[in-house]
Amino acid sequence: MSLFRTAFRPSVLTARVRQYATEAAPKTKSNLLPLTLALGGVGGLGYYVYATRTGAASPPLASALNPDEFVTFSLKKVVPYNHNSSTFTFALPPNTSSKLPVASCVVVQAADPEALKDKKGNPVVRPYTPTSAADNTGEIEFLIKKYETGVMSKYIHSLKPGDSLKIKGPIHKFPYKENEFDEVTLIGGGSGITPLYQVITHALASPFNTTKFKLLFSNVTEEDILLREDLDALAKKHPKTLEVVYLLDKPKPDWKGATGFINADVIKKYVAPPSQERTIVFVCGPPGQVAALAGKKAGFQQGEIGGVLKELGYTAEQVFKF
Ligand SMILES: Cc1cc2nc3c(=O)[nH]c(=O)nc-3n(C[C@H](O)[C@H](O)[C@H](O)COP(=O)(O)OP(=O)(O)OC[C@H]3O[C@@H](n4cnc5c(N)ncnc54)[C@H](O)[C@@H]3O)c2cc1C
Repeated sequence: MSLFRTAFRPSVLTARVRQYATEAAPKTKSNLLPLTLALGGVGGLGYYVYATRTGAASPPLASALNPDEFVTFSLKKVVPYNHNSSTFTFALPPNTSSKLPVASCVVVQAADPEALKDKKGNPVVRPYTPTSAADNTGEIEFLIKKYETGVMSKYIHSLKPGDSLKIKGPIHKFPYKENEFDEVTLIGGGSGITPLYQVITHALASPFNTTKFKLLFSNVTEEDILLREDLDALAKKHPKTLEVVYLLDKPKPDWKGATGFINADVIKKYVAPPSQERTIVFVCGPPGQVAALAGKKAGFQQGEIGGVLKELGYTAEQVFKF
């Protein structure tokens, strides 16, 4: 799984190098040639590293997805992740990628719409956020947890390489803008980590990021924590801008981390108070957790702000439910 995402574009990079060159240029001296050459070299080298790591030197990729229609994709491989979750990789046409903006997800349905129907006879549709980068060429990857009583997750876990799934997107969630906030708290539960992971990996890939991210990630047991290695590696790489707090409902005796549900005390301890400007709280977890912390979602709509966050004084503008 690539941790490096296209968080900044070459045009932005060169513009910022240009801006830096203007600000850094001594105003009284007239011969700017050595400085210009030096900055040009630094900018060129920076762009070379950026371009080779992201493939930005190639022409922009076409999107394999359609926001208005389901497109059928073939399952390439399934790799078990833990006791109830697996990574599913679907093939995209050559030279295409998902091009999903941050933050956004896709919705999926069975390739045969007759195969999975809800009580009203409509095809079952569920949202998923890929764990692969938006510019991943030829593939899209999902980490999906199987719920024994779940309709779609159980169906996807029954698929074998060569089987198909219909995918539609992007479904826009929160239009993430670099450095719009001083602090972003991400509250996740179980497989609700994937939309939050999309935001974190995208934001931290940019050398210009100054936003501090705090992830409060709750799970039942240590074995349930998804993407832990990736999150720990990111926190190690970005100690000033990412803090990860794992909370377990049923920890083993040797667990040294936080325990219990995320409640008012946990929020008061870790989250910037509602009086602080330029902060936001993102919530994505099981429906019960979202309702208890931030109020019930109304289908794909936000629904009213409620729960613990409302009681602590957070407003609808300061909370986003995925
Ligand atoms: C924006 C977004 C992105 C998502 N991305 C992912 C992802 O990348 N990977 C992933 O595995 N899931 C993801 N989900 C959750 C996913 O959409 C489904 O809700 C989940 O797979 C269960 O669907 P189901 O049809 O199997 O279960 P359902 O038939 O809808 O529900 C069956 C039972 O499971 C419970 N249940 C439903 N959803 C959850 C849940 N999320 N947590 C705990 N219990 C639940 C229900 O209360 C019910 O009892 C995402 C959700 C959202 C909103």
